[in-house]
Amino acid sequence: MRELFLLDGDAEELGWQERALCAQTDPEAFFPEKGGSTREAKKVCLTCDVRDDCLEYALMNDERFGIWGGLSERERRKLKKHAVV
Ligand code: SF4
Repeated sequence: MRELFLLDGDAEELGWQERALCAQTDPEAFFPEKGGSTREAKKVCLTCDVRDDCLEYALMNDERFGIWGGLSERERRKLKKHAVV
């Protein structure tokens, strides 16, 4: 089971984590070794109901490692760079 973030935030706000599809899959796929494939993880994200919440969370919290909301660290960085603040 994927280890989801330890937070002391608002429980209601974190409700989406209960529906995280990756929690039922191989956690290692979401944190591949450098140069490892992210394809499997991204495939899971594509069918995840809480993808938007997950991506938003990762962007807000500046998550550096792993696949979140279907995007890799590099893809999230790119997205952030182009985001209008
Ligand atoms: S979008 Fe991907 S990383 Fe995020 S909760 Fe869903 S399956 Fe997990």
